[in-house]
Amino acid sequence: MAYIEPAPITDKENPLESMMERFNIAAEKLGLSDEVYNVLKNPAKQVIVSLPITMDNGKIKVFEGIRVVHSNILGPAKGGIRFAPDVHIDEVRALAAWMTWKCAVVDIPYGGGKGGVRCNPREMSPGEIERLVRAYTLAMIDVFGPDKDIPAPDMGTGPKEMAWLMDEYSKAKGTTVNAVVTGKPLVLGGSLGRTEATGRGVMVSALAAMEKLKINPFQATCAVQGFGNVGSWASALLEERGLKVVAVSDISGAYYNSHGINIQEAIAYRDGNKGTLEGFDGAEKLSDPLELLELKVDVLVPAAVEDVITKGNVDKINARLIVEGANGPTSFNADKIINEKGIMVVPDILANAGGVTVSYFEWVQNRLGYKWTAERVNRRSDRIMKEAFDQVYKTSVKHEVPMRIAAYIVAIDKVAQTYQFRGGF
Ligand code: GLU
Repeated sequence: MAYIEPAPITDKENPLESMMERFNIAAEKLGLSDEVYNVLKNPAKQVIVSLPITMDNGKIKVFEGIRVVHSNILGPAKGGIRFAPDVHIDEVRALAAWMTWKCAVVDIPYGGGKGGVRCNPREMSPGEIERLVRAYTLAMIDVFGPDKDIPAPDMGTGPKEMAWLMDEYSKAKGTTVNAVVTGKPLVLGGSLGRTEATGRGVMVSALAAMEKLKINPFQATCAVQGFGNVGSWASALLEERGLKVVAVSDISGAYYNSHGINIQEAIAYRDGNKGTLEGFDGAEKLSDPLELLELKVDVLVPAAVEDVITKGNVDKINARLIVEGANGPTSFNADKIINEKGIMVVPDILANAGGVTVSYFEWVQNRLGYKWTAERVNRRSDRIMKEAFDQVYKTSVKHEVPMRIAAYIVAIDKVAQTYQFRGGF
C-alpha cells in the first residue's frame, strides 16, 4: 500500500522556536509595531502536497512535499529546496523566515521561501530523484515563477535537480524559463561562482570578524563541521587565506590533524570515494564526531545542519569565533552562554548569505541574457558580504547586542520600513 511516512519525532530543539525567540528580541529592540509583528510572525503561504512516485522496483511511494513562502514584501520569494529524511513543516517555516532575513541583511530584492521533500536521496536512484523533482515542480507550478518564488539548491539537492526543475517548469509553460530557479548547471544559465558562493561568503565574513578580534589568519586554527558544498568550499578558501584547518567532518565521522589537513587532498579523496571522507588517511578519525565542535580552535564553522550547538554542549565550546555556514546551527538556548563566554558569532543569516547573493546574480544574468565573468561575480559578492558585515557590526555596537540580534535588527528594520511605505493593510 502507498503511504506517506509520518514526520519523524525527534528530540531536536525546534528551529522555528529558535528563530522566533531571536525575532522577538530584535522586534522589541526596534519597537516594531504590533501590526507588522503579526504579519512577519506568520508565513505568507504554506503549500503541502503528496507526490506519488513510481520507484525502480515498480511500487508507488508517496512523498510529502512542502513549500513555504514566509514573505514576498521585498520581492519574489527566494530559497532552496531540501531533500532530507527529517524534513518537517516547522523546520521549513523557520528556514523560509531565515531566507527573508538573509536577503534583507545583504540587501537583495527578494523575500524568503523554502521547500522540502521528506525523502532520503542517498537511498534513491538518479531516476527516482528525477521523477520526484519533476512531480514536485508540477505540483508547485502555480507557486514557482521568476517573479513569484525562485527555488535553489539546499541540503540534498544540487545543480542536477535544479536542471530537472527548470526543464519541467519550462515544458509546462511552453518556453524556456531559466530564471525560475538558481543554482543551475552553467550550460543552462547557471552563474560562474555559484557553487563556491556560500563557502566564499563564509570566508569573507570569517576574515572580517577575525580582523575585529585581531586574530591573524596566518596563525589561526579552524574546525569545519560538514564537508558538503558549503563546508568543503569554506575549508578550501579559509586554508587559501592562511588558516590551518585542523578538523573537518562529514556523515562518515570527524577527522583531526594538528598540523592542518590538506583540504585539496581531502576534497579529491571525497570525490573519488562516493562523496564521503570514510577512510581518509590525511588525518586521524575522532572517536566521537561531535568532539570537533569542542576543539580549542580560533574559528569554528558549523556547516552541516541545524541545532548542533545546543544547551547540551555549549559549555564545552572552545572556539573564539563561530561562523555559521549552516542555517540555524546554534539553538536559542545556547545563545546566552555563548555570549557570556565572549565568543563572537557571525550568524547564519549573514555568514551564509553569499549563496543567495550569487543566486541573485544568476537570476539577474538570466533576465539580462548576458553572462558575467567569475571575477565580476566574486568581486560583487565579496563587496556585498563585507558591507553587510560592517552594517551588522555597527548595529551590534550601537544597540549593544550580539551580532546575531544585530543582524535580525538590520533585516527586520528593512522589511518593516518596506511595509510602512507599501501599506495596504
Ligand atoms: N539554500 C541556500 C540558503 O539557505 C541558497 C538559497 C538560494 O540561493 O536561493 O541560503
